[in-house]
Amino acid sequence: MSFFDYLSQPGCAVPDWERFDQRQVEAVLAGGQDSLAAMPVLLSPAAGDWLEAMAQRASQETARQFGRVILLYSPLYLADYCDNVCLYCGFNVKNPFPRRRLSAEEIVREGQAIAATGVEHLLLLTGESRRHADVAYILEAMTLVRDLFASLCLEVYPLEEKEYRLLADQGLDGVTIYQEVYDPVVYRHLHPAGPKADYRRRLETPERVCRARVRTVNIGALLGLNDWRREMNFLAHHVKWLQENFPDTEISVSVPRLQSHLGNFPAPAPVSDRELVQIILAWRIAFPWIGLTLSTRERASLRDGLVGLGITKLSAGSRTDVGGYTGSGGTRQFDMADHRSVAQIRQMIINKGYQPIFRDWT
Ligand code: SF4
Repeated sequence: MSFFDYLSQPGCAVPDWERFDQRQVEAVLAGGQDSLAAMPVLLSPAAGDWLEAMAQRASQETARQFGRVILLYSPLYLADYCDNVCLYCGFNVKNPFPRRRLSAEEIVREGQAIAATGVEHLLLLTGESRRHADVAYILEAMTLVRDLFASLCLEVYPLEEKEYRLLADQGLDGVTIYQEVYDPVVYRHLHPAGPKADYRRRLETPERVCRARVRTVNIGALLGLNDWRREMNFLAHHVKWLQENFPDTEISVSVPRLQSHLGNFPAPAPVSDRELVQIILAWRIAFPWIGLTLSTRERASLRDGLVGLGITKLSAGSRTDVGGYTGSGGTRQFDMADHRSVAQIRQMIINKGYQPIFRDWT
């Protein structure tokens, strides 16, 4: 049974959020509950009145599971061609802007510029166009920058299992693949055409990554596209299902929130700062051992405040356009809110009594 089949079972039904009360929130905060039982309680409106107590518990869990460390990584955009029409993204094929993909020399220069900041974990990204960035191109890019970084991860279009296996054999350490929206009706509306319109294929991609024995898989839903409680609860089921079916793979979660971009699309279901905090605290308490990533989509003061409350990984010094590190950049996939350098983010982490980590394995 794939996760697609699992998701249609009664156990994955959307909870009645209003039925949770203060007593249940207190019981979850006292500990000992199963992750999937705790998560809806912590996402509920009732838990929204308990953020301070949740923050204390999340802080304890973060220290217990991870110590006082934050891993830093940077993204490198290889290409901005895309065959999809996601309504919420600047790379949408219908947005008219000059598209490009980096040459071999440009990839090396961009990689060197990132490596010079001290970052050793690199996320390579493309828009979702196999025609313009095939697996051979992705493999070439990995080969070109492999010696500059300790860890190479990918965020590209969904691949076949054998393709993930090929890349894993060549040193691929992790894959990020967001479902964006778990609700199939909302998904269809937001992805009206292109390969990404295939909801099931996208939903089953993390399974293919796990079967290919890639070390880490990072999943998520784009906050702002649909009711966040529903989406985070679906995501929790996805995490749990992957953990149970692929215990050798490290599953982690990102909490990206929709930002402005070319072709600006207003968030259909905006998520406030307070709600984002509740989401992060809920993840840390319900899944104490899971890695949680927060990107430069969020502004500096918010990111700083969340250090110690559950986040384990921050992007730093990011550029979200192709060629952005060497001054030849173009259209950004989305607008960033935290424009600080790697050095500034490193210092912020130190000032808060934490240790910035550039390499978490060798
Ligand atoms: S979200 Fe991804 S697939 Fe959709 S338009 Fe943007 S780059 Fe393309």
